[in-house]
Amino acid sequence: MSKGKSTRLIHARTGGRLYPTVNPPIERASTLLLPSEKDLYAAAKTYGRMGLAVHRELEAALCELEGAASAQLAPSGLTACALAVSAITKAGDHVIAQDSLYGPTRRFCSRRLKAMGVETSFAPARIGSGVAELIRPNTKAIFLEAPGSLTFETPDTPAIVDVAKRHGVRVIVDNTWSAGVFHRPLELGADMSVQALTKYVVGHADAFAGAVMSADDQTSALVAATREDWGLSPGPDDAYAALRGLRTLPVRLKAHEAAGLAVAEWLSEQPEVAQVLHPALPDHPDHAIWARDFSGASGLFGVMLHPQSDAAMDAFYQAFEVFGFGFSWGGYESLIISSDSQLRRLSDDWTRTKSGPLMRLHIGLEDVDDLIDDLSSAFNRLRSIS
Ligand SMILES: *Cc1c(COP(=O)(O)O)cnc(C)c1O
Repeated sequence: MSKGKSTRLIHARTGGRLYPTVNPPIERASTLLLPSEKDLYAAAKTYGRMGLAVHRELEAALCELEGAASAQLAPSGLTACALAVSAITKAGDHVIAQDSLYGPTRRFCSRRLKAMGVETSFAPARIGSGVAELIRPNTKAIFLEAPGSLTFETPDTPAIVDVAKRHGVRVIVDNTWSAGVFHRPLELGADMSVQALTKYVVGHADAFAGAVMSADDQTSALVAATREDWGLSPGPDDAYAALRGLRTLPVRLKAHEAAGLAVAEWLSEQPEVAQVLHPALPDHPDHAIWARDFSGASGLFGVMLHPQSDAAMDAFYQAFEVFGFGFSWGGYESLIISSDSQLRRLSDDWTRTKSGPLMRLHIGLEDVDDLIDDLSSAFNRLRSIS
């Protein structure tokens, strides 16, 4: 009988128990000393940038997590996104990117890919099989994010994969939100799954790393060559933090999920809330897609309020004592950010449906009653002003 997800993640090791310690050693090295001069050009690994023990173990565990043929590491989530899309494109090619992609990935497409001669069209997250109309003879990649940043639309990945396969186009999915625990894009036919390990995998807001997981050997070879060309490699300490985080990932995510849902449900009952953007809520427009393609939800979601005065919003934000203000997410601590100024949209109808201020909450591992109390004081402060 095949083992469960947690068991497989905990016991994922290259070649079984290689070390007397449970965890691999952190080797800090640029230079590797080789047994002989002949080995300089014959050995498989001859330089630290090619990865050391921790990198190998992390790659093996990530392949287990996502059901991948290979995992290529990068020093951040953003470099992993850039690596994935540039590995399969060249000057003259065209990319279709989900409009709600993580902002810096979106900027990589519109600025860096453009400078490299690759054109990007942005498509609404809910385009589904309608993506067929955007495919051109030179389209090489469709870049999705499940669910999208800030607005949390969940793409219909199987429908998009179906169209892509008919046109010989590869599909990349940014899978950071589910951390690979609740969603496996490669099983749905995507060619690459990308993660900012910085978020839930590291899980403690203390390291950067990213990874590209590929479904097949041909895609793996393209990603490996591009990674090599750019010399991308996370440092051993950061790779170690990601590997350690992976072992406890399913347990942590279940706690983020339960607390996130409790807070989302509480928020949806507040009169000032226009919409809670959380795909696990039954009234979310993508709930059916989420329920079909995901086995759970993480602790990150959006909230849109009815219109509020600036003074009321200032009072609201000043009331928080437990939630912190800060970028990134996936750590043990709860965070809240206002996200209006980050919204960049060209093609979808988000701006038409938007009513009042938009914010993003990351629900950490604190006691959920304290989080709800904190939000409750903020809403009371807002009510006292408006
Ligand atoms: C944070 C994030 C990234 C980038 O990760 P970094 O490690 O911060 O570079 C990429 N995609 C998504 C969805 C993210 O949230």
